[in-house]
Amino acid sequence: MTTTALGIPLFGTRGRAAESTGLDTGDAGERAARGSSPFLLDSHGRRAIDLRVSLTDKCNLRCTYCMPAEGLDWLPGQELLTDEELLRLIGIAVDRLGVSEIRFTGGEPLLRKGILVLVQEVSRLKARPEISLTTNGIGFARRAADFAAAGLDRVNISLDTLDRDVFARLTRRDRHSDVIAALDGAVAAGLTPVKINAVLLRGVNDHEAGDLLAFAVERGYHLRFIEQMPLDAGHEWNRASMVTADEIQESLSRRFALTPHREARAGAPAELFDVDGGPATVGIIASVTRPFCGDCDRTRLTADGQIRNCLFSQIETDLRAMLRGTGTDDEIADAWRMAMWRKLPGHGINDPSFLQPDRPMSAIGG
Ligand code: SAM
Ligand code: SF4
Repeated sequence: MTTTALGIPLFGTRGRAAESTGLDTGDAGERAARGSSPFLLDSHGRRAIDLRVSLTDKCNLRCTYCMPAEGLDWLPGQELLTDEELLRLIGIAVDRLGVSEIRFTGGEPLLRKGILVLVQEVSRLKARPEISLTTNGIGFARRAADFAAAGLDRVNISLDTLDRDVFARLTRRDRHSDVIAALDGAVAAGLTPVKINAVLLRGVNDHEAGDLLAFAVERGYHLRFIEQMPLDAGHEWNRASMVTADEIQESLSRRFALTPHREARAGAPAELFDVDGGPATVGIIASVTRPFCGDCDRTRLTADGQIRNCLFSQIETDLRAMLRGTGTDDEIADAWRMAMWRKLPGHGINDPSFLQPDRPMSAIGG
C-alpha cells in the first residue's frame, strides 16, 4: 500500500473501511490510469465542478418523501464539520480541484447558525465560485437581503403545492405562507431568477402540475419538477406509484405548449422546455426514468465530512478523519480525487440489483 510521509494511505478501499477510517487505499495501476490531473475526474470521462455541501441533516419540515414524522437520529454535534473545517474543505475544492460552483443544502441549511458567514467567506475565495442555496424557504424572507449582501448568487426554494392544506399534509407542518414569503423575499433581494423545486406525489399534489407552472410563469420563477427518487428515510419509494417525467409532461401539455429549449443542457439535470413559445421555461429532472448520469458534474460533501461521488453511492470517503488527524491539504485533495475517480457510470436505480443508500436524502444533502 502506498502511504504518504505521514503514513496516510493514498488510495481508497471500497465500503465501510473507507467510511470509518478515512483511509484511502488502492493500487498503483488505478493511480497510473488516473494520471496527474488536479481536477476531479472519473474513469468514465466526467469532471466534477459542482460541489453540494450539506450543512446539517436536521430539518424543520417533515416532507413525506424525505423524512418520517418523528424526524431522524440527528448527527451528534461533534461529528458535524465546524465552520472552519468546512471552509478548509471548500477552499481545497475550489483552489486545488477546480470546483467552480458551491451549493449549500441539507437537511435544511438555514438551520445552520453560521451559514451567512460561510457564504461570505466562500465569496472571498480568489477563484470565486458561484454560490447557491437549496432551501425549504422557512425564515428566508427576512434574511434574503443579508444573503444577497453576503454573496449568495442564486436560490432554489422547494414548493410542491399552492394549497395550504396539501402543504400541511405533505410536509406535516403548516408553513405554506412562509415559503410563499421566501419567494417574494428572494425576488426583492435580487436573487433572480428564483428557482422552484417541486416533487409530485400521486394522489397528493400531482393534479397541481399545471397550477404550479402557471404560478411560476406569472411571477417569473423558474420551476423544475423532480421525479421522486428512492432516497426517503422509510425506504417506501415505489416505482409503480411514482409520478414519471412522461406523466408530468403530459399533464403540463394539456394546458401549455411545451417545446424543447434550444440551449444545450451542459451538465444541468433538468430537461428544459419553453412554455408557450418562451421566454418562460420549465424543467423536468427525470433522474429515474431518463437518467442523465453520463453528464453528471457533481461531488458531494456531507455535514459530517464524507465525500460521496454520487447521491446513490454505497461508499463514502472520510475527509473528517483526515482533517482532524494530520492530513495536509495535498493529502486531502488527493483522497478527494481518488474518491471521484471511482464514480460508477450510473446510479443503477433501474438495475435489478439496485440498493438504496443507507443515508436518506436529508443526510446526504439534496
Ligand atoms: N431542505 C431543503 C429543501 O427542501 O429544499 C434542502 C434539502 S432537500 C433534501 C433538497 C431537494 O431534494 C428538495 O427540493 C426536495 O424536494 C428534494 N427531495 C427530497 N427528497 C426527495 C426524493 N425522495 N426524491 C426527489 N427529490 C427529493
Ligand atoms: Fe426537510 Fe428538505 Fe427533506 Fe423536506 S425535502 S424534509 S424540507 S430536508
